[in-house]
Amino acid sequence: MSSNQNIGIKCGAGDEQERTFTSHQNRETHLDSLEISRALPIRERRMVGPWCFLDRFGPLSFENEKPMAVPPHPHIGLQTVSFLLEGEIQHTDSLGSEAILTPGGVNVMTAGKGIAHAEETPGVNSGSLNGLQLWVALPDEHRHTAPSFTNIPKVPIIETHGGLIQLFAGAYNDASTPLSYYSEIIGMTVQVHSQHSIEIETNPQFEHALLLLDGDCAFENKPLTTKMLYYLGTCRESLNFYSPSGCRVLVIGGPPFPEKILMWWNFVARTPDEIRQAREDWEAHQRFGAVTGTQMQRLAAPDLARFAQPNPAS
Ligand code: MN
Repeated sequence: MSSNQNIGIKCGAGDEQERTFTSHQNRETHLDSLEISRALPIRERRMVGPWCFLDRFGPLSFENEKPMAVPPHPHIGLQTVSFLLEGEIQHTDSLGSEAILTPGGVNVMTAGKGIAHAEETPGVNSGSLNGLQLWVALPDEHRHTAPSFTNIPKVPIIETHGGLIQLFAGAYNDASTPLSYYSEIIGMTVQVHSQHSIEIETNPQFEHALLLLDGDCAFENKPLTTKMLYYLGTCRESLNFYSPSGCRVLVIGGPPFPEKILMWWNFVARTPDEIRQAREDWEAHQRFGAVTGTQMQRLAAPDLARFAQPNPAS
């Protein structure tokens, strides 16, 4: 699909058996009452390409409660990418954006130099919730850009004999997302039909990772389990999936991120001073603006003493 250009990763003819394949247990945590499986960052793996954060929530069903209720909180230096398999999320932010995300769509919020947002289950809902939130680190030259928000009701779908791909980041074959990303990137869900296989072409300059979302799936004859991140390294020209009874798999990737980032709470920066300043600005009601589209009260920033153990509000 792509030649070995620009970033200089050398991929030889190589023995398939030597390709990287490591598995990393997700960390169970919560956002308020919502249970989350955090696939990134984890101790052994901080990033996959520019992707620096991956939360999996659901599947769950509910009646009167609001499983997602993340009050207004700030971000800098990243993009948030929200994608649903089932249910709805209402997004509001300090730019005045309001959007209801539904399955097959995507919300991409570019924090740049600073934005605040809230995410919650809307009053009118299907009683189900099942999805993903990811963050993309912005490269240094773009991380102070103006904040923006985009909702796409339906991402591109690529259908093949064995299944279908929903593309929410980057380009695949003739399809591409009408979204602004600032690094080379790929993000898709791959649905494999029962007793079918599907081959995804990949850029060997990219590193990739997989997360089984549901169903049963074998990746190159290795069975996958949920709540496990599979890191595949670089130098792969394709990924092959087979499913006995149908499955969905998340595939993310990009060239290994060339900069060292510093993550604390909901901030992606480079130095502790930048983090300290962003925290101070949020506490002083400066820089980020107010989220007026929600009834929820804004979150207070955690104490900087917790610098070693940030717990993002996503
Ligand atoms: Mn957030």
